[in-house]
Amino acid sequence: MRERRVLVVEDERTIAESVAARLGAEGFAVEIAADGPSAVERFRTGQPDLVVLDVMLPGFDGLEVCRRIQAVRPVPVLMLTARDDETDLLVGLAVGADDYLTKPFSMRELAARVHVLLRRVERAAAPVPPAIHLGDIEINEAERRVRRAGADVHLTPTEFDLLVHFAGRPRTVLPRERLLADVWGWAEGSGTRTVDSHVKALRRKLGADLIRTVHGVGYALEVSS
Ligand code: CA
Repeated sequence: MRERRVLVVEDERTIAESVAARLGAEGFAVEIAADGPSAVERFRTGQPDLVVLDVMLPGFDGLEVCRRIQAVRPVPVLMLTARDDETDLLVGLAVGADDYLTKPFSMRELAARVHVLLRRVERAAAPVPPAIHLGDIEINEAERRVRRAGADVHLTPTEFDLLVHFAGRPRTVLPRERLLADVWGWAEGSGTRTVDSHVKALRRKLGADLIRTVHGVGYALEVSS
């Protein structure tokens, strides 16, 4: 994973340097800007993953910086405010900051907030595979859940993996040896009875006609429609 970058926008030098030092120690690549115009410029050139932004700045203020950078590219913004009532005011204005920290704050608190914001963004960006529908059966891979006619069906981890494997290859005849290699990771062809017993379990839990036996070869997932 590439190094994550944070832009710190703060004209009070001691605060800027403390924040930069702490985030640097946390493994971030940190850049500092000390006024509104240079913050926007650094944002364009540095492509940061997150911005720590003070409200009171020379040039133009943090609200204007926030508006301008969000217009360039959406990015999580942690805003630094001087007082609690200033935070209330900004929340009311909906300036597009994701979180606020009132001065004075501890560097530990700041680092914690930065990590939470980045995790939230990364989670939101992770692709969620769509649920798979097989008749009245719904397979949710992200949650590793299976429902039949809306009711949860409990599958063992291997049963689940086998079902997902079948679901990705509907109507295809899958030899038992092939299933053993792909789902169980066994290179040897022995143990095909294991495949049989898991298919039996899937039929019992999800319907007898879900998986068709292809005699002497293996199995195929039946899909109605
Ligand atoms: Ca300031």
